[in-house]
Amino acid sequence: MTKEEVLEMSALEAGKKIKEGILTSEGITRIFLEKIKAENPKYNCYITVCEDAVELAREIDKKIKSGELTGPFAGVPIAIKDNICTKGIKTTCASKMLYNFVPPYDATVIKKIREQGMVILGKTNMDEFAMGSTTETSFFGPTGNPWGEDRVPGGSSGGSAAAVSFDQSYIALGSDTGGSIRQPASFCGVSGLKPTYGTVSRYGLVAFASSLDQIGPIGRDIMDVAALFNIISGTDPKDQTSAEKVTPVDLDKIRDFNVSGLKIGLPEQYFGEGADTDVKKQVIEAVKMLESKGAEVKTFPMGIVDYAIPTYYIIACAEACSNLSRYDGIKYGYSSPDAEDLLELFIKSRSEGFGMEVKRRIMLGNFVLSSGYYDAYYNKALQAKALIKDAFDKAFERYDVLIGPVAPTTALKAGESLSDPLKMYLGDICTVLINIIGLPAVSVPCGFDAQGLPVGMQIIGKHYSEETILGVASAFQRMTDHHTRRKV
Ligand code: GLN
Repeated sequence: MTKEEVLEMSALEAGKKIKEGILTSEGITRIFLEKIKAENPKYNCYITVCEDAVELAREIDKKIKSGELTGPFAGVPIAIKDNICTKGIKTTCASKMLYNFVPPYDATVIKKIREQGMVILGKTNMDEFAMGSTTETSFFGPTGNPWGEDRVPGGSSGGSAAAVSFDQSYIALGSDTGGSIRQPASFCGVSGLKPTYGTVSRYGLVAFASSLDQIGPIGRDIMDVAALFNIISGTDPKDQTSAEKVTPVDLDKIRDFNVSGLKIGLPEQYFGEGADTDVKKQVIEAVKMLESKGAEVKTFPMGIVDYAIPTYYIIACAEACSNLSRYDGIKYGYSSPDAEDLLELFIKSRSEGFGMEVKRRIMLGNFVLSSGYYDAYYNKALQAKALIKDAFDKAFERYDVLIGPVAPTTALKAGESLSDPLKMYLGDICTVLINIIGLPAVSVPCGFDAQGLPVGMQIIGKHYSEETILGVASAFQRMTDHHTRRKV
């Protein structure tokens, strides 16, 4: 097999070929590491590259041969977002604050992928502490997008999505607090799943907004995404918010999913004025293809979408300011070298260690939680959350899934949103409601805009309906070749 063939197959195919003895984990890992090393200075998908991955792969090959490792991804390489703790491997959250932090333990998801015999290629770039939509707020500099030299990869899991899109890994893990798996997947022309809250353990995920955060898989092929979800999901006693019963999705059902009779609702507000014409057009055309296979499609008003951005930013910032209060210059990471006393150490370490976007959110969070404004903002946001839940419950009485764009635009120009954060926040309109009430949603490539940039379609389901939304995505994938396309 040529290097190109190895790089371009799916993760499940790679796993199968390793098992059959046609390829080795060591050989595949070498090819990826070579590519990453050659391209990382330019595209910056990885903050840390795991140099010892080849040795690990060699050990894993032995275990596969002896029959000790038999899973579908045994020996398959993976990229991990740098806010997921990896024992012995730096975990920086793309922040100066954690620039030298080496976790003494593995996140539950890492433990699970190691048990499968998967090989970690490295830790991927992201917006600092997962706050952003472009991967430009990283302390380690921005990441490229294969679809346009001047374009951002999206964020905050931009490094993970771009790594998959650049063929620097078959699959990756990201985290999604308000769209950070789905939106970069959409900008980079790959697929990503934000699972139901509680189905994937958050133990070892550096907290941004704990009631919204969820780890999920990114891949080119939706079957890879589904199979990786099965590996990382499950009840975890180490996570207090872990769901009690997590059943794996049935891969055969997803592969052969039939959309005939499926009721699809299109929230009108997702196709409003703010969304690009090309984005709307591609998503509508994709929905028509599902309709041609027997799905029943209806547009309906969902006024609650107007409250998405304020509700999300109030809740996310309130939780973030509390979660980030632990970075004091003493326990973890960066500590200011020239503080005279304890208070100055706190102030200087935080002032020097956090970037602009993180500081803005800490300030916003403290503001909405302060005694004078708590009722006006935080309490109101909680009330809005109840209304959002009602609106989705009602929608799911009539529809099996909801479909809309992932983002109102395709990949933004680099630098655009750094100068206008409010505009960046507005770009989260289609994704944040899902996190507020813990629903699952998947992003799948559904076409290209006039400039050749990928457009993502978002399929939203009821709680624990991963099998259905992945099934719809798979039915769509079978009708198109978007997921295999590469910029040549
Ligand atoms: N773009 C959103 C934000 O900036 C979502 C981030 C995320 O999901 N981590 O908060």
